[in-house]
Amino acid sequence: MRISRAHILAPALLTLAAGAVAHTNDHGLDARNFDARTNACTDFFQHADGGWLASNPIPAQYSTWSLDNEIGERNTAILKRVLEDAAAHPGDAGSTTQKIGDFYAAAMDEAAIDKAGSAPLKDDLAAIAALKSPADVAALIADWQVRGNDVLFDFEAQPDLKASGTDIAYAGQGGLGLPDRDYYLRDDAKSKKLLAQYRDHVARMLGQLGDANAKEEAGWIVALETRFAKASLDRVSLRDPSNSYHIVTLAQADAKTPHFSWADFFHKAGRDDVTSFSLAQPEFFAAADAALTDVPLARWQAWLRWRLIDADAPYLSKAFVDADFAFKGGVLRGAKQNLPRYKRAIRSADMAVGELLGQAYVAQVFPPQAKQHAQELVDNLKTAMRARIAALTWMSAATKKSADAKLDTMVAKIGYPDHWRDYSKLQITRASWIANVRAARAFEARRQFAKLDKPVDRSEWDMTPQTVNAYYNPMGNEIVFPAAQLLPPYFDAKADDALNYGGIGSVIGHEMTHAFDDEGSQFDAKGNLANWWTAEDRKQFDARAQKLVDQFNAYVPLDDLHINGKLTLGENIADLGGLLVAYDAFKLTPQGKGDAKIDGLSPDQRFFHAYAQIWRTAQRPAQLRLQVQSNEHAPAKFRANGPLADIPAFARAFACKAGDAMVRPASDIVEIW
Ligand SMILES: [Zn+2]
Repeated sequence: MRISRAHILAPALLTLAAGAVAHTNDHGLDARNFDARTNACTDFFQHADGGWLASNPIPAQYSTWSLDNEIGERNTAILKRVLEDAAAHPGDAGSTTQKIGDFYAAAMDEAAIDKAGSAPLKDDLAAIAALKSPADVAALIADWQVRGNDVLFDFEAQPDLKASGTDIAYAGQGGLGLPDRDYYLRDDAKSKKLLAQYRDHVARMLGQLGDANAKEEAGWIVALETRFAKASLDRVSLRDPSNSYHIVTLAQADAKTPHFSWADFFHKAGRDDVTSFSLAQPEFFAAADAALTDVPLARWQAWLRWRLIDADAPYLSKAFVDADFAFKGGVLRGAKQNLPRYKRAIRSADMAVGELLGQAYVAQVFPPQAKQHAQELVDNLKTAMRARIAALTWMSAATKKSADAKLDTMVAKIGYPDHWRDYSKLQITRASWIANVRAARAFEARRQFAKLDKPVDRSEWDMTPQTVNAYYNPMGNEIVFPAAQLLPPYFDAKADDALNYGGIGSVIGHEMTHAFDDEGSQFDAKGNLANWWTAEDRKQFDARAQKLVDQFNAYVPLDDLHINGKLTLGENIADLGGLLVAYDAFKLTPQGKGDAKIDGLSPDQRFFHAYAQIWRTAQRPAQLRLQVQSNEHAPAKFRANGPLADIPAFARAFACKAGDAMVRPASDIVEIW
């Protein structure tokens, strides 16, 4: 469900760099990344990044290749060394090096993993085979959910949207093997073909588990998941926080799902004391419950086997890994090869014991003065944002006052957590990768259950320090920047201000603006879902936001595939606002006030180049389609060019004229923040 859907700045994709060439100077812009043949006023993304795109083909193992992937490569090299060292010298049982070293060693032990085949699934398969009734199915689902395998629904602790100081449970729609409900419901030829490919994939995986009837079972599974999909909300609806907030008592929840006992579920988790929670999407649960009795037992058993193998295949023997990649990496995303084992092992360690790895990572890449410097940038951005709010012509003084208050209480987390997560209760051994992965899932599930009905721990982070990304959390009113997001060329203490404000400055501004996008603006300074707008101001905001929706609806990144302006609205508001705030803050620096050229570029030109540089990204068509159909972030090219065309300072910097593609007509220009 992800209420606090970490407002990720870019799709968090994993990394690798087979022989890619990065043209980045130590502290600057590299003209080899430009494409001088494309006019800046025609397509600035191509003008600024075309050289890089031409010299950086997407490696076979990837479906996206971008600046973030390049930074990810540097991180991967660091983490590999850390993990190899720990594997060679694990130290005392229970120590950090033992846990990360044994985790990595088990994941790298290909011979043992291949020898085990599907044996690690034996007990679960036996439990599925022993089911006799719908009540048995419900009990098994509860067991799996409690140990952290979200087989039918998403489950997590999150702040109460209307009392953000306390965590409560949210149970949200789930149960799908494809990325989104719409994949089951669209009826165009491409979508139908993909659904058929999914059915074949399910059959292949079940066949590998030994099911004699795998083909027919795959049909049952797609039919059952289609029922779930029909009862699920679409992604645009999920962006409205109130669509995830349905507080019920256990008795009310049980009435909604007479064949699934929530009292039993919380009992199994050791939380008999929980008396209420958010049944986030009640209609989904009602539909799933109805299916418990009118879908035959054998079909549920087939679906459970599928959900089991779908979750665990990446950690099993080669036949499972290859089949899993063929669909999820190949068909869905267009990658040609799987990542090498060590990269899959690092990725898995990051998910399982990320803050243990993070401690070693920040010790190597993030000196204390970097935190200080980033905090100064945040403060300067806040100052610029405050001035922009004060100058807004469409907003009343009353609403401005509330917006200011929200900016005042906004917290910036920089680099890494003040308190590292305690993994002392998580057991990791060298015996089995999948056993470690399952132990980590169960550990995380216990952590979530332990939080329920307790005060929110404000020191927690949703991302590890080695993640190249950032987020805004509306319930904590906090902007969060992992160390990996604060590296060159985003942020470099030795670079000129234009590069830092166009780079990390626009990222900081983006996250800050999320507090005031169509979703974030529904939360107040304390992180509660509470209205602080006058009706007239909200009407003005909505009208301006609608122009941005229209702007992005008109973009066509692939074939006849349009961007969904409503789905991407929050990100697009944040991009535009973030860029404007960063530009204003840059204009307060000595370089921003002057006109001294560096490498032939004016201060403003360098600022806009730095902004476009962070979006350098190439994607395979399948990945582009997946992103447009299921992600809140528009493709990189449009995140670069879209907001720039709304900014008169950009047109001035490159002497663009009315009628140029990068100059939006005055009547179409969007002004929100
Ligand atoms: Zn964002």
